[in-house]
Amino acid sequence: MTKRLSEQAILITGGASGIGRAAAESCARDGAKLAISDVNVEAGEETVSALRELGADAVFIRADVSISSEVESLIGKVVEKFGCLDGAFNNAGIESSWAHTVKASEEDFDRTIAVNLKGVWLCLKHEIKQMLEQGRGGSIVNTASVAGLVGARGGGSYVASKHGVVGLTKTASLEFSSKGVRVNSVCPGIIETPMVTRMLSETGLSKQVMIDQEPIGRLGEPKEIGDAVAWLLSNESSFVTGIAMPVDGGYTAV
Ligand code: NAD
Repeated sequence: MTKRLSEQAILITGGASGIGRAAAESCARDGAKLAISDVNVEAGEETVSALRELGADAVFIRADVSISSEVESLIGKVVEKFGCLDGAFNNAGIESSWAHTVKASEEDFDRTIAVNLKGVWLCLKHEIKQMLEQGRGGSIVNTASVAGLVGARGGGSYVASKHGVVGLTKTASLEFSSKGVRVNSVCPGIIETPMVTRMLSETGLSKQVMIDQEPIGRLGEPKEIGDAVAWLLSNESSFVTGIAMPVDGGYTAV
């Protein structure tokens, strides 16, 4: 039986950890060829080894998504390796320091926007250009967050960056869906990844406080986002474009 991402060349940024790595594993199981990109070279190479063990054709390409020239060269290298780009998961992101608006620093704001928002914009620019040149469409998923749908006390710059990702997604979808390039965003709730471990340690909050924000009564697993992303990347979601899809255990249902 043909797998739903068979022979599709897919790029995943921030693919060396957490949600990105889990999405890479879901896509590998669905038959995709994978370009994993990240700033963490060691974890990226290790992820690629794990994907090859799952039977995937996979390569690691280092790139910082906040730097235009690195993103442009990243797309070139993916095409050099696989001959095309069929799908992309623009997922690389950072947590901002947790501080309310009066106390938050300008430096933290600028860095959060540079990676989480400009990084997605740069990826969209170069990925869509490539897909239009190929002329056979494509599917792109951006990682937003529940923080792209509602506010979060102490998370102003992060919330702004993720609301921006939802806006970029809708705009690119309006611009390019008629040319066969679908663009969606996924809005994870609180998922057990190294990012959340760091946030717990920085804020001193207990894990239970986070669980209490999740109506489903637990935190999410990276695979639960990865599987949703693989569906959005595949043709099974062929009539879905421009959405901000919560995968959030009910976080935004209140
Ligand atoms: P993570 O820290 O485990 O993984 C993030 C990855 O992005 C890391 O491998 C890191 O090296 C990479 N990265 C960071 N800056 C980069 C840059 N400039 N260029 C390239 N790569 C870079 O975190 P995660 O929880 O898996 O987060 C993945 C995405 O999901 C992020 O966009 C995050 O904002 C979003 N998200 C996470 C949660 C959650 O609860 N974990 C919830 C909603 C959204």
